[in-house]
Amino acid sequence: MKMSIKDNLDKILNNIKTSGDNSAFNENVKLLAVTKFRTNEEIKEVIDYGIKDLGENKVKEFLGKYEYFKGQNINWHFIGHLQRNKVKDIVGKVHLIHSVDSIRLMEEINKQSEKKDIITNILIEFNIGKEENKYGFDESEVEEAFNKSIEFKNINVMGVMCMAPFTKDKDVLVNVFRKLRKIYDNCRNMYNKCDNINLSVISMGMSNDYQVAIDEGSNIVRIGTSIFEGE
Ligand SMILES: *Cc1c(COP(=O)(O)O)cnc(C)c1O
Repeated sequence: MKMSIKDNLDKILNNIKTSGDNSAFNENVKLLAVTKFRTNEEIKEVIDYGIKDLGENKVKEFLGKYEYFKGQNINWHFIGHLQRNKVKDIVGKVHLIHSVDSIRLMEEINKQSEKKDIITNILIEFNIGKEENKYGFDESEVEEAFNKSIEFKNINVMGVMCMAPFTKDKDVLVNVFRKLRKIYDNCRNMYNKCDNINLSVISMGMSNDYQVAIDEGSNIVRIGTSIFEGE
């Protein structure tokens, strides 16, 4: 029997709840519904269910959906690689940019936010698995990234993000998620007294691995496939 989006969401939210019980960190975990490639009708079902946080990874697609659902109470998250020349198109429209993967991008987000006289929330993305096809700072660049971010007064650094390798190997996943958690803990100690660094978010976990991610301390999971296509 084909499961509906509602059935899928019921199941995922229940899984999130039980994973949270096993988590050593006992955080409140937020479900971010990744709506890339999905139709407005499909997305409407998710909104009607009561999900407020939606994520897109392409600027053009995001802008179309942003306009379509304008006026509804949605927090849009940008989760894909962001080109600097497109930053101006999304600043002011997104609640949180998860995928800040270079100093130059940070600088541009700051510049465009300053122009609009707003502060943009960002996460710093790390490529923990050192995968060639993935974006993000290297683990060795943690201090460089955070030290630089202090200079940019129109960004608010809310946390860290990563994508794990696509595998069911739990040891590999745990290793990656634990490293991001460690970066988060260290940076909270080192930087949270800075005005524009207020770390409270660890964005990790997707359809394939969100339960492992939650057990390792994630508090935003980004899920697409399991919502719209089931497990
Ligand atoms: C597509 C995407 C997701 C969701 O992946 P699913 O496997 O469909 O759950 C999460 N994060 C990012 C950055 C993505 O691009």
